Amino acid sequence: MPEGDTVWRAARELNKALQDKVLTRCDVRVPRYATVDFTGETVQNVVSRGKHLLIRVGTEWSIHSHLKMEGLWHVYPPHGKWRRPAFKARCILGTADSIAVGFELGFLRVIRQAEEDDAVGYLGPDLLGPDWDAEEALVRLRADPYRPIGLALLDQRNLAGIGNVYRCELCFLAGVHPLTPVSRVTNLVRMVELSKKLLEANKFRSQRATTGNLRGDQLWVYGRTRRGCLRCGTPVVRTETGDSELELRVLYFCPHCQPPL
Ligand SMILES: [Zn+2]
Repeated sequence: MPEGDTVWRAARELNKALQDKVLTRCDVRVPRYATVDFTGETVQNVVSRGKHLLIRVGTEWSIHSHLKMEGLWHVYPPHGKWRRPAFKARCILGTADSIAVGFELGFLRVIRQAEEDDAVGYLGPDLLGPDWDAEEALVRLRADPYRPIGLALLDQRNLAGIGNVYRCELCFLAGVHPLTPVSRVTNLVRMVELSKKLLEANKFRSQRATTGNLRGDQLWVYGRTRRGCLRCGTPVVRTETGDSELELRVLYFCPHCQPPL
């Protein structure tokens, strides 16, 4: 599942392939942008902002995408075989040296660079961004003291980059029941520090681990309904959470290691 580390890595790979390169092919397969053609334009750079990706073309335009649940970007040699079916491609950008393909992008639009702030400016401090600010993230989290920590961590307006896997694992590592109100989380500072540490540790690798173990069990509770909590073996509870702000997402926690208050 794409989280901030996945998107950061995608931006890095795309930037490596596209920065300062002239586009020889541009195919945006979204009806609204079917006539967009940046062929002949030079890509300025590619950056991630939380779980959003901005491909800046020339000095005026940005291709703004979000991977949502299934999306991914691949970079191939110009005539390389694609590892996903072509009908799933939503954006194709070619240069003389490579071709970048965005598959199943849950969100894709073309905006002016001047509109970037409207598009992603609402996001909280980006865990993997140059502007990361733990204090600001804490201020935003604490601004809604009654909100369950498991939801507050997912809200990208508080801090940007945490997805469903990390929010479950972070609550586990903090020993906190995910429905605990933010105001009653005693180690909130530590949780924010840990979120930064986990994303940093995983940003260079495609295998995500919160246990530090890349060869065995990589997660403590996420997806472990059958196998049980990695620490104590207690059956992991799988439920769904969401509120008026966030869509329902599957939540995993260990009722023994993360007792309710
Ligand atoms: Zn446990």
